[in-house]
Amino acid sequence: MTRLGLTVRLSTSSTISRYAIVVLTVAVAIIAAELITRLLSAEAIASSMLCAVIFAAWVGGLGPGLLAVTLALLAFHYYLVPPNGSFTWKHGLFAVGISEIPRLILFSITSLVVAFLISAQRKATEELRRSANDLQVAMGDQKRTEAALLQSEMYLTEAQRLSGTGSFGWSVASGDIFWSKQTFRIFGCDRTTKPTLELIVQRTHPEDRAAMQNTINRATREGREFDDEYRLLMPDGTVKHVHVLARAVRNAQGGIEFVGAVTDVTVAKETERKLRRSEAYLAEAQRLSHTGSWAWDARQREFVFRSPETHRMLGLDPSEDAVPQQPLWDRVHREDRDRVIEMVRQALREKTDFEGDYRIVLPDGATRYVHSVGHTVVGHDGEVTELIGTHIDVTEQHLAKEALQKAFDEIKRSEDRLRLVIDTIPTLVWRAGPDGVPDFLNQPALDYTGLSPDQAEIGWPRAFHPDDKKGMLVKWSAIRASGMPGELEARLRRFDGEYRWFLFRGVPLRDDHGNIVKWYGSSTDIEDRKRAEEKLRRSEAKLIEAQRVSQTGSFVWNLFTGERVGSKEFFRILGYDEPRSVTFEMVLDRAHPEDRARVEKAIERAARNGEDLDYEHRLLMPDGSVKYVHVVAHSVRDQADQLEFIGAVVDVTATKQAEDKLHKAQVQLAHVMRVTTLGELTASIAHEVNQPLAAIITNAEACLRWLDRETPDLPAARRSVEWVVNAGNRASEVIRRVRSLAKKSEIEKVSLDLNDVVKEVIVLVQRELSSHLVSLRAELAPALPTILGDRVQLQQVIINLVMNGIEAMLPITDRPRELVIRSGRDEAHRVFLSVTDCGVGISAENANRLFDAFFTTKSSGMGMGLSICRSIVEAHEGRLSASPNEGRGATFQFVLPSQPQKEAS
Ligand code: ADP
Repeated sequence: MTRLGLTVRLSTSSTISRYAIVVLTVAVAIIAAELITRLLSAEAIASSMLCAVIFAAWVGGLGPGLLAVTLALLAFHYYLVPPNGSFTWKHGLFAVGISEIPRLILFSITSLVVAFLISAQRKATEELRRSANDLQVAMGDQKRTEAALLQSEMYLTEAQRLSGTGSFGWSVASGDIFWSKQTFRIFGCDRTTKPTLELIVQRTHPEDRAAMQNTINRATREGREFDDEYRLLMPDGTVKHVHVLARAVRNAQGGIEFVGAVTDVTVAKETERKLRRSEAYLAEAQRLSHTGSWAWDARQREFVFRSPETHRMLGLDPSEDAVPQQPLWDRVHREDRDRVIEMVRQALREKTDFEGDYRIVLPDGATRYVHSVGHTVVGHDGEVTELIGTHIDVTEQHLAKEALQKAFDEIKRSEDRLRLVIDTIPTLVWRAGPDGVPDFLNQPALDYTGLSPDQAEIGWPRAFHPDDKKGMLVKWSAIRASGMPGELEARLRRFDGEYRWFLFRGVPLRDDHGNIVKWYGSSTDIEDRKRAEEKLRRSEAKLIEAQRVSQTGSFVWNLFTGERVGSKEFFRILGYDEPRSVTFEMVLDRAHPEDRARVEKAIERAARNGEDLDYEHRLLMPDGSVKYVHVVAHSVRDQADQLEFIGAVVDVTATKQAEDKLHKAQVQLAHVMRVTTLGELTASIAHEVNQPLAAIITNAEACLRWLDRETPDLPAARRSVEWVVNAGNRASEVIRRVRSLAKKSEIEKVSLDLNDVVKEVIVLVQRELSSHLVSLRAELAPALPTILGDRVQLQQVIINLVMNGIEAMLPITDRPRELVIRSGRDEAHRVFLSVTDCGVGISAENANRLFDAFFTTKSSGMGMGLSICRSIVEAHEGRLSASPNEGRGATFQFVLPSQPQKEAS
C-alpha cells in the first residue's frame, strides 16, 4: 500500500520530476554498469540499461520509458562508439562494430517492448486503481445518501408526529393504500392493520360518513383531487377533526394514484372554537362595557383593525371593514376636532401615549361622549409604526356626571335654603356631639338665649332653669344612653332673664356602622301650652267635682276598639275602683237583670244605626241595692271614621224616687181630676143615658101596642124590641165608659185604633159641646195603624184637650166656636192626633209653661190637666206639644209610635 501510495504520489508529481527520475535512473544504471564492469569485469551495460528502461517505464510511463531508451542508446554510444568511454563528439557515430548491432537492435526492441508493456501495464494498473478509488468514493457516497435518507425519514416521521400530519398514498386501480406511521396514529390503528377504504369510512363520524363516501366515489370516478375536513369517531368515543388533502398523480402504468396528507386538526379546531368564543366574549364584553378597540398603521396611515363595538360607537356598519379616515374625523364634534387631531399628532411626534375625551355626532344627530386612550408602538428604526387604543363610550357616565353636578348644585341650593329655613323657623334648632355637648345653635336659638355662636357649648346648658337643670341632664343622658329619639321639658332662660317652658326633642344620626355621630334636636316654646295645661288641669278638677256633685259620670266609648274611657264619677256610679278602661261586659253586668235585654237592644240599635243613646235603666249593685241611671250619649265619628259614643251617665236614683212619688201623686190627682171632670160631664152623661132610656121606653110601649093588636104584628114588635135592645146596649156602654173613667185602675196597654178612642170621647163630650155652642169637626184619617196604649188614659188626654179647647173659646163671641179633631200618620209612620180651637190662643210668655204642673190662667183651674196629659203621652213613648195657630186659637197635638213600626224597630 505504501508503495502504491508512493507510486500514486509520484504519478501525481509533475512530469518534470518524472523525467528527472528517468535521468537519475539512467545515471544510476550507468554507475551500476560501470561498477560491475570494473569490479566484476563483466559487461553489464545492456542489462542495467534494460533495468533502467523497465524502471523508468514503470515509474514514469511510456514517455519516460522512451526517454530512458534514448538515454540508454546514448549510454551505448558512450560505451560502444570509439573512443569508448568518452562524451566527445564522435564522428563515426554509426561506426559500431557489427557484433554490437544485434545486441543494440535486440536491446532497442526489447527495451521498447518492455517500455510499452510496462507503461501499458502501469496504465492498466493505474486505471484499476482509479476505478477502485471511484468505487470506494461511490460506496462512500451511497452510504452517506443512505444515512441522509434514513435521517430525513426520521425527520419526516418526527415532523409528521409533531405536526399531527400523516401522509398516505392510494392507488385507485389496485386499491392499495399506504399510510405513514402518523396516519396510523391519527386513525388509531396499529401498523399491522391493513388500511382499506372500508376502514376509513367506518372510522369516519356517522354524520360525515356520507360526505366521505362521496369524496371517495368522486376521486375513484373522476380522479379529482380533494381537500376536505371530516370528523373521526374513535373507538373510545372521542371525536377527532381531520383535514385531508390529496393530489392525483399518474404512475408508470398510467393509473391514477393519490398522494396526500391527513392532518389532525382537533386541537386547532378546539383552539379555533375557543378563540371564536373568546372573540365573542370579548366582543360582548366590549359591547357591555361600551369599549371599542382599534389599531392604526402609522406608515400606511389607515386603520388596520376596528372592533365591532368601535363601529357601533361611531355609528358605522360593523360589516363594513374599510372606512376612509375623513368620514371618521367628520364624526368628531366640530368643536373638539382640532383638539383631537392635535392630541394624536402630538402623540405621534413625541412617541407618547395619549388620552382624551371628545364628542361624536352620529348621523341621526345624537351626541355621544367618548373617552379615547392611545398607545404608540415604536419600531426598530425608532419610528412610530402603529397606534393602538380604545374608545370608551362614556355618554352615560357623562350624563350621570352632569346630573350629579346638577344634583350637587341643587343640594347646595337646597342647603342654602335649608340654612335659611333653619335660621328663620320659629323653633330653636340645635346639634350636639355623641357626648351631648352642643356644637351648633340656629339663629333663633342664639337670638333667644342671647348667646354668640362660640358660646353655644358652655352657654346653652347654663341657660336652663336652675330647678330643671339636674333633671334635664339626667334625662338627656338617659336619652343618649338609649340611643333612641327622646324628649324632655325644661325651662330655658331668655336673653332678658325670663324663663319659658320648652319641649326639647332629640334624634340621633347614625353612621353606616350604626354609631351615633350627632344628635339633632329642636326646642319648642310650650309656655302657652303649659299654661293651658294648668288651666285644663284645674277645670278638670272642677269638672270632676261637678260630676261628683251632680252624680254624672262621663265616658267615651269607641265601638271599634271597644275602648271605654270613663271619668272618676262614671266608675263610682258603676261601683268600680276606677280602672282606666271598662269593658262593655263590665258595664252590662251592672245592668239590672230585668233591664239588661232592653239596654243591650238599645245599645245595639244605636251602634248599628249610628244613633244617639238615650235610655234609663236600673243598676243592680253588688250589695243588692238598686240604682237608676239615665244614659245619654252622642254618637260621633272619630278621625279614623270609627263610631264613638261620648256621653254621660247620670245617677237619677234620687230623682227617680222623687218622680215615683210625684207619679203616684199625679195618678191620684188624675183620678180626682177625672172625677171632677165627670162631675162637669154628669149633665152630658145623664143626657146620653136619658136618650136611650127614652128610646127604650118609647119602643117598649110601641112593642106592647104591636102585641096588643087583634092580630099581633109580630115583625113590628120584634123590630121595636131590637131597638130596645140597641138603646139598652148604648146606655149600658155609656155607663161602662163613665165607670171605667171614674175607676182608679192600673195602666193596661192594648192594641188600639186611635180613631175609635176619639169616637168614644166624642160621645162623652157631646153635651158639653152643644151646651157651649161649639161645633165639632172630626177629620179622622182612615186605616190608621194601631197603637199600643191604655184606652182610658188616652180618652182622658183627648177629653182634657177638648175641654181646654172649649174653655179657650168661651170668651169668643164674634165668630163661630169650632173645634177640629184630626188624626193621621206622619212621615215617621207615627200616629198623631191634634185638637185645634179658635179660642184665645197661647201667649208667648205662657208658651213655655203650659205643661208645668199647677200652671193655670183660669180662676178655678188646677193647672194639672196638661201636666198629667204629658206624663200619660210620654208613658206611651209619645210626645205632646202645643203651638199657636196661624190664625186664631191654638193646636194641641200628640204623636204616638204606631204598633207595626215599633215592632219593626
Ligand atoms: P187648667 O185647665 O186647670 O188651667 P191645664 O193644665 O189644663 O190646667 O191648663 C193650663 C193652662 O194652659 C190653662 O190655664 C190655659 O191658660 C192654658 N191652656 C190650656 N189649653 C188651652 C187652649 N186650648 N188655648 C189656650 N190656652 C190653653
